[in-house]
Amino acid sequence: SKYIYTFGDGKAEGSAAMKNLLGGKGSGLAEMNLIGIPVPPGFTITTEACNLYTKNGAENTFALIKADVEKALHQVEELTKMEFGSAENPLLVSVRSGARVSMPGMMDTILNLGLNDVSVEGLSKRTNNPRFAWDSYRRFIQMFSDIVLDMKPTTKEDIDPFEEIIEGVKHAKGVKQDTELDVDDLKTLVAKYKEAVKAKTGKDFPQEPQQQLWRAIQAVFDSWNNDRAKYYRILNKIPEDWGTAVNVQAMVFGNMGNTSATGVGFTRDASTGENIFNGEYLINAQGEDVVAGIRTPQQITLIGSKRWAELQGVAEEVRKAQFPSLEESLPETYQELKNVQEKLEQHFKDMQDIEFTIQNGKLWLLQCRNGKRTGAAMVQIACDLFREGKIDEKTALKRIEPNKLDELLHPIFTPEALKTAKFVAKGLPASPGAASGQIVFFADEAKKFAQSILVRIETSPEDLEGMNIARGILTARGGMTSHAAVVARGMGKCCVCGAGSLNINYKQRTLEVNGKIYAEGDWISLNGSTGDVFEGKLQTQEAQLSGDFGLIMDWAEKYTRMYVRTNADTPKDAQIARKFGAKGIGLTRTEHMFFEGERIKAMREMILASDLAGRQTALAKLLPFQRTDFEGIFEAMNGYGVTIRLLDPPLHEFVPHETAQQQELAQEMGLTLDQVKQKVHELAEFNPMLGHRGCRLGITYPEITEMQTRAIIEAALNIKAKGLDVKPEIMVPLVGNFNELEHQLKVVRKTADAVFKERNDTIHYLVGTMIEVPRACLVADQIGQIAEFFSFGTNDLTQMTLGFSRDDAGKFLPYYITNGILKVDPFQVLDRQGVGKMVELAVKNGKSTNPNLKVGICGEHGGEPSSVEFFHIVGLDYVSCSPFRVPIARVAAAIANL
Ligand code: ADP
Ligand code: MG
Ligand code: MG
Repeated sequence: SKYIYTFGDGKAEGSAAMKNLLGGKGSGLAEMNLIGIPVPPGFTITTEACNLYTKNGAENTFALIKADVEKALHQVEELTKMEFGSAENPLLVSVRSGARVSMPGMMDTILNLGLNDVSVEGLSKRTNNPRFAWDSYRRFIQMFSDIVLDMKPTTKEDIDPFEEIIEGVKHAKGVKQDTELDVDDLKTLVAKYKEAVKAKTGKDFPQEPQQQLWRAIQAVFDSWNNDRAKYYRILNKIPEDWGTAVNVQAMVFGNMGNTSATGVGFTRDASTGENIFNGEYLINAQGEDVVAGIRTPQQITLIGSKRWAELQGVAEEVRKAQFPSLEESLPETYQELKNVQEKLEQHFKDMQDIEFTIQNGKLWLLQCRNGKRTGAAMVQIACDLFREGKIDEKTALKRIEPNKLDELLHPIFTPEALKTAKFVAKGLPASPGAASGQIVFFADEAKKFAQSILVRIETSPEDLEGMNIARGILTARGGMTSHAAVVARGMGKCCVCGAGSLNINYKQRTLEVNGKIYAEGDWISLNGSTGDVFEGKLQTQEAQLSGDFGLIMDWAEKYTRMYVRTNADTPKDAQIARKFGAKGIGLTRTEHMFFEGERIKAMREMILASDLAGRQTALAKLLPFQRTDFEGIFEAMNGYGVTIRLLDPPLHEFVPHETAQQQELAQEMGLTLDQVKQKVHELAEFNPMLGHRGCRLGITYPEITEMQTRAIIEAALNIKAKGLDVKPEIMVPLVGNFNELEHQLKVVRKTADAVFKERNDTIHYLVGTMIEVPRACLVADQIGQIAEFFSFGTNDLTQMTLGFSRDDAGKFLPYYITNGILKVDPFQVLDRQGVGKMVELAVKNGKSTNPNLKVGICGEHGGEPSSVEFFHIVGLDYVSCSPFRVPIARVAAAIANL
């Protein structure tokens, strides 16, 4: 098996097609070589080697790849005319991780590897640039020690020894920026850094380049299994066994002086989707300086630079003198970069995120990948690329990540709230949306409040988990490509970054802006679309959907086979869902209607009644409520089917459990408190979810089914009389047995016939069942004989198939997932192998006796893209989900059909 793939000088053994084997970075570097873009030569060690390493350990794995690594390294030496380990003409390399998908900040990269006490002098002489040589060496020692020698602080209390040393040297000299340090300062730094390494590890900093290389390779492999990487994988459902590739690449230097630079760019705006090249750079800098927020990064383009200055309130003269664009400072290189980004986008036909370095005016590309983007940008870019003729409709639709549409549907601050809002500060609009929350200053404290805003000077990969929990993220430093910005956009989380007027004091847990102090727990609000920060908790309103959103929905309509319904219990929800393109209601839960106002009283009366007559009296009170509710829903869903489920939950859920309320109820019903208590006690069950619920209620108390059927049919006739098209579907829950459904069916038909006779009118209606008991799947051929439709209740079906109580799974599910026993939460993502098989079987069985059987699903899974794909595959007619998931399900269903 081949474990090493070389690239350089316009040639490459790999290509973009080999992403799985070479990782995103490695395949991108290969492809860029192939299309004539300047890339420093190097080689990629495959992800398969990483997996071997994880399985067999370092010794076995390295023995297998050693000779090829040496050969590849030799090829780099030839192309660069430098020598790895040489004293006079040292080849320096970077050792870079690179998984299949980008994992921001998860894996670590080491730059300037190959330097030591001797070669730093050689490099200094050969380049005639001692400052650069020593700057590179001090960077190398820090990175290598942090990553390979484990000197990176792991908690927020720990101080990074290297940061402390450099701050000390800068302080002593009275300067602020790293670039203000001269050769002697850098030599001092190196000496102190080496002392720190010796003090910490008991050994000298490793001087042998070969040893440096292999230890670095090993560290990259190890980083695949560090906690941050693991957490990111769980969060993003990335399999453990993908592994990371290692890229070893000749260094180019952005820290050689004023015609050298390093930067990152996007071929389009990753936040709005606008078709405009943008990005940030720093002169005389290296590697992650731009994203690390060490200095204020400058804009690549002149337009971008002017916009930035306006947002930051920087005057034009100051901007030009201190923060010029690359277009102004290195116009020729800028032009070349502009051409390269165009070529890359043209080649990959998608928005690219690029990393580059300029060494003495010469441009080098170090990375390209499809750029992460917000939901809004995703929609805009897909539609623009289509309009530009670069991709066709189907490709454009496939570019939509259904879950990301969620961001577009989310609320924004109301204009009224904004009018009176007290402005606190302005930062960069890093990731859109509106968020209010209570201030926390440390990521691991994000849970402290139900709604928190994480406020940081800057964020780092350690903060990932807290960033995910917080409602929004606010940083004082860092640009549009800072860690906070990139990660927040990926998560679709509201983020304002680089708000320079904030003075954050971690020790005192305060935030000071223009003399005003905000403490932990104070409410603030962020507008991620404008960069505004406000005091207090602001009111929000629904998002306005843009024209391009409509285009995506049109495509979804055109290419889908399944249609999408909604789960709605109120006319308002039904209307929202209809606006999003829902074609009917897949589930109306009647019990939700019983909790409102006066109704609960009648409901309790019904439950506590000691005989049929008592129940009938109470049910008669409930009938008009139900009928009115159904009328509203039928009206909102004019023309589409509406599935109404008969009463489902255990009755125990409706009765009061506190004495005061029980007393009140007793009075109303003319009972004693003890009688009420006794009744409530009788209703308690050991296993309510497997107890007296679902059709078991309707079977033991047919009068409930009668009342509900009457309410449904009367409502339908009333709305029909208004000239609307009503399609009622009555759904019997929790059926596991033919006789159960047959029993309920008789009650329903008899009641409906009675109403038809009374009204001297009829309406077509369906009776079907929810499939949520495993037995129902097994005998679906029998049930199918009398059911007109099946609707899979995958919440209960998951609970009963796996034997996992929905209410108790929280105790062990997280453990299962972190430890790889389950890959994902089966209540979120349908368990295809188990529950999926049940669904498939039920569809097949049901259709065997009833070819016209309509099949759909109304569990939580109906709005989850990967589950929707499965439902498409097994041939369901529709999925039903909550109103805000409707667009997501529609796109997921269409993509599944492409
Ligand atoms: P990440 O996966 O975190 O993006 P990278 O491997 O891309 O890490 O490295 C981070 C940065 O280091 C790059 O953007 C680039 O600026 C710099 N870098 C990496 N390799 C080289 C190299 N061979 N020459 C110059 N700079 C490099
Ligand atoms: Mg990084
Ligand atoms: Mg990178």
